[in-house]
Amino acid sequence: MNTQQILKIKNLQVKIQNEIIIKKLNFSINRGEIHAIMGKNGSGKSTLAKTIAGHPRYNITQGQIIFNNEDITHEEPEIRSNKGIFLGFQYPVEIAGVSNIDFLRLAYNCEQKTLNKPESDPLSFFEIMAKKLKNINMDDSFLNRNVNEGFSGGEKKKNEILQMSLLNKDLSILDEIDSGLDVEALKNISEHIKNFSNKNNAILVITHYEKLIDYLQPEYVHIMKEGEIVYTGNYETAKLIENKGYDFFLNNY
Ligand code: ADP
Ligand code: MG
Repeated sequence: MNTQQILKIKNLQVKIQNEIIIKKLNFSINRGEIHAIMGKNGSGKSTLAKTIAGHPRYNITQGQIIFNNEDITHEEPEIRSNKGIFLGFQYPVEIAGVSNIDFLRLAYNCEQKTLNKPESDPLSFFEIMAKKLKNINMDDSFLNRNVNEGFSGGEKKKNEILQMSLLNKDLSILDEIDSGLDVEALKNISEHIKNFSNKNNAILVITHYEKLIDYLQPEYVHIMKEGEIVYTGNYETAKLIENKGYDFFLNNY
């Protein structure tokens, strides 16, 4: 048994309706690592992220997803989440009528329950969150607003980061956490991701900008094209892509 390995994807093929979107995809992530996936729009990055999280629309027609040495290829999304997978959305949803703090506490207490730990009451939960908000340069008032309702692009992304650090899963996947952020917010979020990373967890970020990778310095950068990982490098790879463009990169490596 490999205790270092958190995620292993073996020969994965994914279809949406009858179209193959992901093909023959292989890669694995060990504890303590940050991985990035880059690729043009439509290359299948979000499909891969949602497939790992168990989104029902994506049909796994070949291959396996192994998480902490267990085959989760056909598990329900809730089970995957309980086992330790977090997915931050590319387009976070707004939930009218539900305050951010109630939503976060509900998610947190569900997690506590599966871990057989005591649930957090509203007051102590507010204290936990107030500390986390400070770290991410957000005002307390943020907690009383409805989930993502009227949030700016940057605030929605920060909210995803907040959820990630609160739920503290073995594997956190962040899909385009950097899109729509100004330089300051991007720097702040990158630092937060970096601080969250430790020797027991793993992070997979999906992006098509070099900047986030520059800040995060992931161990591995995978390039996706038409549903396949066509190249695996490190943060230098992202620099090359930034300077030369995807087409040049893909034609020459
Ligand atoms: P990326 O995140 O790299 O931009 P996506 O995974 O969103 O790429 O999309 C990969 C391909 O799958 C695209 O051709 C897209 O049109 C298709 N696709 C993704 N989601 C759906 C869906 N829900 N229904 C139909 N086609 C989809
Ligand atoms: Mg996407």
